[in-house]
Amino acid sequence: MSFQSLGLSAELLRAVSEQNYTQPTPVQSQAIPVILEGRDIMAGAQTGTGKTAGFTLPLLHRLSAQMSTKKHRPVRALILTPTRELAAQVSDSVRTYGKYVPLKSAVVFGGVNINPQIDKLRRGVDIVVATPGRLLDLVNQGALDLSQIEILVLDEADRMLDMGFLPDIRRVLALLPAQRQNMLFSATFSNEIKKLAGGLLNSPALIEVERRSAAAESVAQTVIPVDRQRKSELLSHMIGAKNWKQVLVFTRTKHGANRLSEQLTRDGLSATAIHGNKTQAARMRALADFKKGKARILVATDIAARGLDIDQLPHVVNFDLPNVPEDYVHRIGRTGRAGNEGKAISLVCVDEHHLLRSIENLLKREIPKVVIPSYEPDPSIKAEPIPNGRNNRGGKQAQRAGYAKRHGQPGAGGGQRKSSQGQGPGGGRGRGGSGSAGAGNSSGPSRRRSSPQRRRQPA
Ligand code: AMP
Repeated sequence: MSFQSLGLSAELLRAVSEQNYTQPTPVQSQAIPVILEGRDIMAGAQTGTGKTAGFTLPLLHRLSAQMSTKKHRPVRALILTPTRELAAQVSDSVRTYGKYVPLKSAVVFGGVNINPQIDKLRRGVDIVVATPGRLLDLVNQGALDLSQIEILVLDEADRMLDMGFLPDIRRVLALLPAQRQNMLFSATFSNEIKKLAGGLLNSPALIEVERRSAAAESVAQTVIPVDRQRKSELLSHMIGAKNWKQVLVFTRTKHGANRLSEQLTRDGLSATAIHGNKTQAARMRALADFKKGKARILVATDIAARGLDIDQLPHVVNFDLPNVPEDYVHRIGRTGRAGNEGKAISLVCVDEHHLLRSIENLLKREIPKVVIPSYEPDPSIKAEPIPNGRNNRGGKQAQRAGYAKRHGQPGAGGGQRKSSQGQGPGGGRGRGGSGSAGAGNSSGPSRRRSSPQRRRQPA
């Protein structure tokens, strides 16, 4: 199938061909014609499948086919994303694919000054890409009117629920006109997602593309047994000895990410870390350095890495195994994209054997184990409980009530959610600063759903 046969306008096809895309990905060839018809869709697609172009191209087509004649252009399309990074990436895609259509877009998220966003909106935009918290702040400040929205996209809806955004999503939905086209993209379809979809979508077309757990089969996976104290030494050794150029390394906690990136730097390897305790600017810089090849190693936590569009990574390393097996699948999906060979390496110490078993159960196969000479695990070392382990997922991560609930963890009660220092890219209120925007500085998982500001929001 070609892009030409999908029914997109010449302006959009021109922008697509400039990206050197030769043919639509499966989610694109399924979603684009249906969206062009104006139907609602519910799509099971993850980052890396081309889903962003899958909804952006037909959205741009529909909006540009019927340009508003009003003097002050109303906002006609809203794309909601769970994280600032994803919002920035989607916004880049809107600009890239919309290069030859006369539509304006704005991206709004917390953690940065709200005033330039207000100015931009006041000048008139057709499309807003947003994280939920900042979006509501802008609405509450009278800078944004959502009553003319024609198209709504919820991107990575499962992540939004995991991160506790459901109340905000409901608030946003209440501000939209009843007549509109809705699209919901989600990697997983939990009962919560199905419930949200049930109330949101009108006889949607269901689109399911290959899941990562299946795609993961094409990634060469290896487990390297090693003692917990020797992991960073082994990692430096492997990166140096094999001359790996671009490595994404996952750690379980943000402190672990910092520690490891500092250690790698001390070992003479250029490394940078990305996690929720860093400012938005620092995270963007770290990602840019990594993409440009200035930093050879990017150390990330699961949530910070979520939705990051890093193409064709040759190597993904699990420095720690994730507590949740599905996160393993997300992590290794970062490599071997679009038919490129990828390697996923997991450094596994004795403490993590139970986590490895859960992952292998999910994959329904054993991951090959390779022992590196002179790094053989010492059999006398006994397993120890993992700090910030299963019942205390990264400490504050456990406070993501939706997450805990979905994964059957104890302590999922909302009463725990009182930290200001979340693990995710939304960052924390403490870090983001204060100001009249109030809660608006936080658009990530750590936002206090029950903060006084929030309670004053329209229900
Ligand atoms: P996404 O799943 O939307 O995050 O997209 C993942 C990556 O695939 C992005 O870097 C896109 O630029 C790229 N991409 C999207 N559509 C295509 C296509 N049809 N052919 C090749 N690459 C694509």
